[in-house]
Amino acid sequence: MMRAQQKSGPLYMSAKVQHLPWECVTALKPFDLRKVNHVFFSRPGSYLADGFRRMMQAIAKNNNDFDITVRWVPGHIDIHGNEEVDKHAKRAAENRESKSPRQHLPHYLRLGTLPLSISALKQAHTKQTHAHWGRIWRKSPRYARTNHLDPNLIHRSFIKLVAHFPKRLTSLYISLRSQHIPLNKYLHRIGKKESPHCEHCPQTDETVHHFILECQHYQRQRHTLTCALGRKASSLPFLLADPDATVHLVRYINSTRRLKTTYGEVPLPTKHSD
Ligand SMILES: [Zn+2]
Repeated sequence: MMRAQQKSGPLYMSAKVQHLPWECVTALKPFDLRKVNHVFFSRPGSYLADGFRRMMQAIAKNNNDFDITVRWVPGHIDIHGNEEVDKHAKRAAENRESKSPRQHLPHYLRLGTLPLSISALKQAHTKQTHAHWGRIWRKSPRYARTNHLDPNLIHRSFIKLVAHFPKRLTSLYISLRSQHIPLNKYLHRIGKKESPHCEHCPQTDETVHHFILECQHYQRQRHTLTCALGRKASSLPFLLADPDATVHLVRYINSTRRLKTTYGEVPLPTKHSD
């Protein structure tokens, strides 16, 4: 609640301005009133304070003896004026019919729309930037390779998942999810292996999918994984993205010893991600 009173002259103003920035009081000090031409407010509702300040400046310009005092009063302690403003503001918010006629409003509120809110603009900008980034990412060649594993590879969910992972485990997860991992399919692609095939399964590429879900050589270890996770153990996105799967997947990988040369004994998360 802000109450402004003109000491000389008939003007008496009372306005409901919630969240009014303190700077407006500074700007409205009599001494500053004629000098301050531009005060930039960035808080919610600050356009109201700005409009009020401009209105006072206009009056001060044409009245040499104009003086004004702005006082803050606490809300909800039965101050009559404050309670009246609350009542009218509530009624206007609930029912369009109760709104003041346009011609009764201060000039700066008679426009068709309210001024843009800086916080709303920031939100819209962030949303637009994310959408733009998403379009660029979907055109990237890496998108197709990683999306069938987990569309959220570089999203917050992954950051949250690995928040309590030891570095070696994070490195393993990034390798599994990007498929840049020392399994024959990838090793062949970078010229480190003659064949992309699994050493135990002729004519079958040794991919992440094959190593974790199909290879018959690791049937016993996979049985343990399935006993722990049930049907979900056959979903690669679940295994690589759900915190409940991490411990069991790490145990599976350690027990196969397939990646031991690169990763050694992979450590478990230090704390369960929630
Ligand atoms: Zn195999």
